Amino acid sequence: MAQLLLRGELLRYGVSAVLFDKDGTLCRSEPMLLALAQARVFHCRQLLQERHPELAHEVLADLGPRLEATYGVEENGIHPAGTTAVASREHNLISTATALAQLGLGWPEALELAAEVFERSDRLLARDGTPAPRATPGLHELIHRLGGAGVACAVISNDERQGIEAFLGSENLRSHFQVLRSAGDAPRKPHPDAVIAVCGELGVAPGGCALIGDANSDLVMAERAGVAVVLGYSAGWRRRPPLASRFRQLSHWQELEVVSA
Ligand SMILES: [Mg+2]
Repeated sequence: MAQLLLRGELLRYGVSAVLFDKDGTLCRSEPMLLALAQARVFHCRQLLQERHPELAHEVLADLGPRLEATYGVEENGIHPAGTTAVASREHNLISTATALAQLGLGWPEALELAAEVFERSDRLLARDGTPAPRATPGLHELIHRLGGAGVACAVISNDERQGIEAFLGSENLRSHFQVLRSAGDAPRKPHPDAVIAVCGELGVAPGGCALIGDANSDLVMAERAGVAVVLGYSAGWRRRPPLASRFRQLSHWQELEVVSA
């Protein structure tokens, strides 16, 4: 059990565990996610052209901006609350198929085509060596402070388990996280039962936990699950995430002090 201080202010409840969101909280994933979204737009246009040469040029020209809006692609970045930033791969696939269905494709074909687009994009990114997500500044120090105070750490993310493992492995942080919850676990974020399940695995009640995330959906989920300390992290994206003002927020891990209780 430890007390957390935010910018010197003692937070009311002691905690035995901290649950972290991954993208935009533990790591800056924006360059990778932007490259991924752009690859999906490119392959979607290319594949549609291959499969449907009869489609008018204007239809194809319209698809790019339509998909960019769908994915939350902005000038030089990603909308921190958009589908690419927040949603699972499966939900992104469905939103891609929806954009294709709007062009007149039947749903089975739209889904199949979206799946092919995602596979081609994954292959392209693997080949091109897109920059991997990097830990947010000061994260390593915080994780060590928490470990030193006997506080357990967990990841609760809508990334695939492989993506979570790859990030933690690349930062040499895997052994500091006792529980990982990914998009492959049911229920997934933002269902409050996802938090309850992580707490169960950690052997800590939600009332003895903190949760830190960069999306309102993370913070509302934590509130509903009865998590004691709910914090918004705002420095994981180029553009500050639109977090509700009722949540306490921090923009650098240095702002969070850990005191053994
Ligand atoms: Mg996030």
